[in-house]
Amino acid sequence: MTARKSRSTKPSRQRLATRATVERPATLYELKKCLDSARRSALPLRPRGAGTAPTDCNTCSTGVIIDMTKLDRILNVDPHNGTVTVEAGTRLRNLTLMLAKRGLELEGCYDQSGRTVGGAIAAPCFGPGIGNSATCFSSQVLSLKMAMADGRVMTVTRNQENLLHALRASYGLLGIICEATLRVRPLTKFSVSHSCVTIDKFCSVATALISTDIGLKFYLLPHGDKVYLDVRRYSVKTGRALSLPWQIKDWRENKLLPRVLKLLRGVVPFPAMRYRLTDAISDATHGFLKARLLGTGTNAMAASQWPRHGSSPKLFYSTWCFPAAEASVVIPAYVEFCKTTLAVSGYRCDMPAVGYRVQKNADSLLSPAFDESMIALQTMSTREAGWENFVIDLAEFAQQWGAIPIFSQSRSMRADYARQAYSGRIEFFGKMRRRLDPDGKFLNPYFAQYF
Ligand SMILES: Cc1cc2nc3c(=O)[nH]c(=O)nc-3n(C[C@H](O)[C@H](O)[C@H](O)COP(=O)(O)OP(=O)(O)OC[C@H]3O[C@@H](n4cnc5c(N)ncnc54)[C@H](O)[C@@H]3O)c2cc1C
Repeated sequence: MTARKSRSTKPSRQRLATRATVERPATLYELKKCLDSARRSALPLRPRGAGTAPTDCNTCSTGVIIDMTKLDRILNVDPHNGTVTVEAGTRLRNLTLMLAKRGLELEGCYDQSGRTVGGAIAAPCFGPGIGNSATCFSSQVLSLKMAMADGRVMTVTRNQENLLHALRASYGLLGIICEATLRVRPLTKFSVSHSCVTIDKFCSVATALISTDIGLKFYLLPHGDKVYLDVRRYSVKTGRALSLPWQIKDWRENKLLPRVLKLLRGVVPFPAMRYRLTDAISDATHGFLKARLLGTGTNAMAASQWPRHGSSPKLFYSTWCFPAAEASVVIPAYVEFCKTTLAVSGYRCDMPAVGYRVQKNADSLLSPAFDESMIALQTMSTREAGWENFVIDLAEFAQQWGAIPIFSQSRSMRADYARQAYSGRIEFFGKMRRRLDPDGKFLNPYFAQYF
């Protein structure tokens, strides 16, 4: 991969500035009105949850953005059958807290809890869950209600498996999810081991770790030669689960760290010194609160509450999924890519990259882990100047390594590459899209490149 010093000849693919109208339906009736053809609304109509996805999947420059965050009621909790039914605009944070009060939890553990249930179903949403169905949020969907392009509401149950497969990770292209019933279970403790290893050491155990049925999240510091591991397992020997250490950990990693790193840029003008400090602070943050206090947790405790809208510095990120079987070669290549980019263009991400193990999962048509288990590698930074060029280089790197892009999270992917990566599935999905939305009401220019 070659990082470039200047990109004056290459357009930077910044996100769209939007002049679209924003509708905020608070009831199903209002949502149906947004879809009513008689209103002759400008097109496209683009559903949006919390708007945390970093691509143009949740916006349009003209037309109507349908903001779902007011449709946020929790409709029913059924502990007996292990289900919860919610409106699509419900924030994951509110859902997790409400379930925990009743002694229940989702099967997986998902960060970025400000996002909505609809956004987490319509776009791939990963976390360090233990077990096959726990790494991806949409696997827990048992049934859905969806408002279609013509305003009718369709209910899809687990008996309509193929349709349900298409609706998970459908990016709002088949319709607008308005309600979902999800599988829940009693709060279940897991044991966690936290450790710090060199990148070489991590690569030597990565394949074995990834093929084990554990919950895995890792923080990769490419310039500091360190990987912080968070490995979760169910164990009969779990200790007492305390939520305070998890809250402190979350606050330090997801609120304090981005703030301090951003501040550092303002006060330390010399890059070499700043980078040394950046790595030392990341080290201190992730090395803090070791095993004893954080040895046991539940999904509810471990779900990150930050960043919260408006209260944290903006984080820039782009995620690609790399075949898990190739982790031991892809990770050193990624480290090399980061070092080359810094040497050539002067840009480096200040936040550690975060990785998740994503189990092979064919229960959604556009699952990035449809054929094999993946590592979702989330590259993150608080530094805006140079980010747009960095993500173009990152996309080139990822495409060279056969990574699978995620339409909601992988910045600057090439359209031909995305079509090749999803091969026949994208065509099948496209046919379905044309059948359910023949006038292309939900198709914005971003998605028109791919579907
Ligand atoms: C700092 C940060 C950290 C993150 N960490 C993670 C992480 O750890 N794991 C992870 O998986 N992701 C992570 N993300 C990515 C992001 O949170 C996910 O993409 C999330 O699923 C988007 O949810 P949302 O409610 O914000 O949806 P939006 O961004 O608003 O929308 C995402 C897509 O879903 C569609 N959509 C939204 N609501 C509906 C609906 N009701 N019906 C139909 N379609 C709909 C939109 O049209 C769009 O295509 C992170 C993001 C940030 C900013």
